[in-house]
Amino acid sequence: MTSGFSAIFWRFFHWGPLTAISIIKSITFMTLYMNAMWWPPNRTFGGFLNQTVFLMLSASTGFNFVMASLTGPKFLPLQWRPKNPEDEQFLQYCATCEGFKAPRSHHCRKCDRCVIKMDHHCPWINHCVGWGNHAYFTCFLAFAVVGCLHATVILCGSLYAGLHRDWYVYYGQYSKATVYLSLWSLVLGVFNVGLAIGVVIAVGMLLFFQVRAIVNNRTGIEDWILEKARHLREGTEDNFQYPYDLGKWKNIRQVASWTCAPIGNGVEWAVAEGCDQFTLTREQLLQKSAKRARTRTYTILKPVSGSWVPLWSQGCRVCLSPPLTDEARIKLDVGDTVRVTRWRKHWLFGEKIFDEPEEPRNGTKKDKKRKQQSEPLPEAHKPPRIRGWFPRQCAVELVEDEDEAEQQQHFNEKKKHK
Ligand SMILES: [Zn+2]
Ligand SMILES: [Zn+2]
Repeated sequence: MTSGFSAIFWRFFHWGPLTAISIIKSITFMTLYMNAMWWPPNRTFGGFLNQTVFLMLSASTGFNFVMASLTGPKFLPLQWRPKNPEDEQFLQYCATCEGFKAPRSHHCRKCDRCVIKMDHHCPWINHCVGWGNHAYFTCFLAFAVVGCLHATVILCGSLYAGLHRDWYVYYGQYSKATVYLSLWSLVLGVFNVGLAIGVVIAVGMLLFFQVRAIVNNRTGIEDWILEKARHLREGTEDNFQYPYDLGKWKNIRQVASWTCAPIGNGVEWAVAEGCDQFTLTREQLLQKSAKRARTRTYTILKPVSGSWVPLWSQGCRVCLSPPLTDEARIKLDVGDTVRVTRWRKHWLFGEKIFDEPEEPRNGTKKDKKRKQQSEPLPEAHKPPRIRGWFPRQCAVELVEDEDEAEQQQHFNEKKKHK
């Protein structure tokens, strides 16, 4: 019980949820305070209805926010394997969770678990958005946008009435001169109008992307996979069919339910005709091997501190052109080898290679599959992956004889899949 309580405490005791809840509360209280003067709920039925609607929007926003955060996206069980061992060849392996990644599951570095149908890690709810809370999260966004629009109308209306109070009094329209603005209510009123409009714009954009994800049955990550799939096939006759697009209404029914409970078992998914359970995971494996063929191996000549701003060791030029991402910066020693996948003028992104017999790169696809199938566990005993950015001037490229063979193999693989 206590562990459950502390889990809930730490879920919300984080800048994201604390800020979000403060914004919701601030707008709610200021709107109620101003509305009590502007359109009092206890005088007219219209006023009562107006405040009731606003209170319901505010409460629904808060409720869906808390539920999205508490329910979470649902994690894939650790050391998960498909029921049929034959299917392991179509799936990626997660070394951290020591299991296979089910279709539509991705590993989240912040949650440190494989997340079912992961969309993104949302700092506001301090949790991932995925299979388990997609519906709650979308409801939260929708109520927040509508509620803040309502708050904007009430706050602007009452501020207008308050600023024109003298005018109403002067012309004898006493029934309209109900809003009295002190300095503080003016300042807080304007501040909260700003907050509400900000929420409408920012959350409105998020809502647009969430609704689009539901209508297309395609998460942000899957958008990216599909984009790469199309890019890989550019200029060919081949067309990649995205397997989870079942048509608009069926797509919506994969997420929408009256209880906001997730639909299905999180492992098997409804797929379109002509596709099977592993259409997308096979594509992911293909993209991974294409990426591997693009990598270059570098050797470290100067020690790398792993600092974000290595002014003393690397100089200004390196510090002035950092890669614009929050990905890790890694520490490396002279003689380390790194497999580089991304290049910037002064920085490289790669993964450190540990002294181990490398997997047979020249092996055929079948060899690789057999390897994956028969001995996936040794991968789990490998040291943790060290991946990140480091200054380019510390490294030199190793030119390998096998490069050409490797490229040839990649080309053949691509041809086979056509
Ligand atoms: Zn994982
Ligand atoms: Zn996460």
